[in-house]
Amino acid sequence: MNIGIVGLGLIGGSLGLDLRAAGYQVLGIARREQTCVDAIARGVVDDASVDLALLAAADVVFVCTPISAIAPTVQQLIPHLSANAIITDVGSVKKPVVEALEPIWTNFVGGHPMAGTAESGLEAAQTQLFAGKAYVLTPVKTTPPAAVNIVEEIARSLKAKIYQCRPEDHDRAVAWISHLPVMVSAGLINACINETDPAVLELAQQLASSGFRDTSRVGGGNPELGVMMARYNRGELLRSLQQYRTGLDQIISQIEREDWNALQGKLSINQQTRPKFLNLE
Ligand code: NAP
Repeated sequence: MNIGIVGLGLIGGSLGLDLRAAGYQVLGIARREQTCVDAIARGVVDDASVDLALLAAADVVFVCTPISAIAPTVQQLIPHLSANAIITDVGSVKKPVVEALEPIWTNFVGGHPMAGTAESGLEAAQTQLFAGKAYVLTPVKTTPPAAVNIVEEIARSLKAKIYQCRPEDHDRAVAWISHLPVMVSAGLINACINETDPAVLELAQQLASSGFRDTSRVGGGNPELGVMMARYNRGELLRSLQQYRTGLDQIISQIEREDWNALQGKLSINQQTRPKFLNLE
């Protein structure tokens, strides 16, 4: 089977490495010639080009560009593809992507491999990035089951754990566990930066340790990624932020009222429930 990958960055490059290792023939598309040369040299693809016509031979195409470029890329790709080729994407938000592509390509299957690092670009590509991680497929009523099965089979070859859900459920769920944490963590860093006493600010920076490292990690990452989440998952992110604000107000009120029992109750529920989000049970 020939697999095409458009966008040879962290996700596209990592897919190429593992799919070739799994025995697939991989054809890559990049915007710059040098990326094509580098991708072939690194063994990410069997062949690469800046010309989408290379993908005329592809049975399945993974679109791995930033979210804003996914739909325009598919529009450009369509004239080059064989009529029964399957297109899938790896975008971190699903509803806007599926809504844009489902009407224009029958064999489109929305997807989101939930793996990544803080790095980007081809040089960040690595083997086994998806092993043991969730890979979500978001077929809709019109998605041909045969196309879903083929994308699922490919995702399984990455040793990923496959989940299927509606695009809107995906976006709501990732708002809770990915996009809200980024904004909360960003708010935390922002609050600390705004300490008005320079001596205390410097002391806090010197004393910060593992607690601050853990809670600030996702908010101190790539700003473009945070803006992408807010822009493309705006509704669900706002909903989760408002819910978060309500919870924060309750905690403030419990502390103001010195209602330690209520606070203890809330923290106990959190302690019991957190493992369910981390597959620790
Ligand atoms: P990345 O490392 O920056 O790679 C993006 C690739 O797309 C690069 O090869 C880049 O090419 C190409 N590209 C950029 N703008 C383009 C455009 N306008 N038209 C065509 N190609 C373009 O990013 P990534 O982390 O792999 O993310 C790619 C996709 O994966 C995104 O949709 C993201 O939502 C999704 N995703 C990311 C993660 C994560 O943690 N990073 C996890 C899961 C899913 P050049 O080299 O020419 O600039």
